[in-house]
Amino acid sequence: MSENLNPFTIAQQQLDEATAVLRLNPDMHAFLREPMREFHFSIPVKMDDGHTKTFRGFRVQYNDARGPAKGGIRFHPHETIDTVRALAAWMTWKTAVVNVPLGGGKGGVICNPRDLSPGELERLSRGYMRAIARYVGLTQDVPAPDVNTNPQIMAWMLDEYETITGHREPGVITGKPLELGGSAGRGPATAMGGIFTIREMAKHLGINLQGATCAIQGFGNVGSFATKLATEILGMKVIAVSDEFGGIINQHGLDYQAVSQHLKRTGKVEGTPNTEPLANEDLLTLKVDVLIPAAIENQITASNADKIQTRFIAELANGPTTPAADNILYDRGIPVIPDFLCNAGGVTVSYFEMVQNSYQFYWEENMINERLDALMSKAFHDVIHMAGDKKVDNRVGAYLVAVNRVAEAVRLRGWV
Ligand code: GLU
Repeated sequence: MSENLNPFTIAQQQLDEATAVLRLNPDMHAFLREPMREFHFSIPVKMDDGHTKTFRGFRVQYNDARGPAKGGIRFHPHETIDTVRALAAWMTWKTAVVNVPLGGGKGGVICNPRDLSPGELERLSRGYMRAIARYVGLTQDVPAPDVNTNPQIMAWMLDEYETITGHREPGVITGKPLELGGSAGRGPATAMGGIFTIREMAKHLGINLQGATCAIQGFGNVGSFATKLATEILGMKVIAVSDEFGGIINQHGLDYQAVSQHLKRTGKVEGTPNTEPLANEDLLTLKVDVLIPAAIENQITASNADKIQTRFIAELANGPTTPAADNILYDRGIPVIPDFLCNAGGVTVSYFEMVQNSYQFYWEENMINERLDALMSKAFHDVIHMAGDKKVDNRVGAYLVAVNRVAEAVRLRGWV
């Protein structure tokens, strides 16, 4: 039987497994299985050639029991409402596992930003914010960047929101440029948070990371900063990276600057001097100490999980591993730092950004990183202890920590 790769089905399956271990009240389980609210809308955009193209957009507020919904906006040609629902559910568990006072949400637009001119991209971004402006805000729902969106897009969305509402409210959106109230350290934050969990996992397993090898799938914001920080902070040797077009390898370690410069020049990592080409699927099965999927969902599946050769996996992407692959990895004794723990650094610094926006006073980058380290390390150990106590894999352990917190907030509010 072929595997069901619908991300929302997967997110629900993961929750079902965790609620069985927790023996959660069935009414609570039913409530947590579905998004609380979702918006589907059209975004008509005047294209450069004069015609109007209509894009479809979504915003899902999965759960806001612990605080305003929080989560990024993706621009992706294969976006679906079920992907956005799954990502919004994972945001709910993510903010809960690091214990920041936020809920979970996500947004998406079906589009290929590579096909849009800068003007079209700006009009699409502003159109997205116009569609959701009355449903977002510092106390309701706070968007952020995700796949194919960036600080400039956040700036356009912020400006559109403030133009509509007539007041300044920088905390309505995070991942902004520094000049508009962004936070120091937000750019590298997702990768930085992942680096802290990798350091803790290596300590836990007794692995020396100095000179240890690593392969990273994806070279967007997260994958590229992970390459830089794994080398600079952990002293690791990143031997392979990839983007959507293909990968590169050098057994002696890649030079982050060289890869970035080549990517800037050509739009691809392939062809970087002193590297050999490598197929994306071969990157995942390389023999390395740490494997980091940092691209998109459904990459480690029933068809390749038995070929993975790594000491542990650090999931910087959202949803890279399917439930069937999880079972194979668990049986093979390959530990995973699950996505909504490993990649929680981004939303954690987004929370710091909201705090700084609220009291209009800004912190230095080293203070951000110290506070990020404290929250990520605490979350890591909460999860590892839970998984150990209940004899479950780390993903189920992370769900147990997170679902308990969300369910308690829902119960205290008297919703269920
Ligand atoms: N898009 C990031 C994530 O998936 C960050 C979300 C945020 O900062 O709100 O965690």
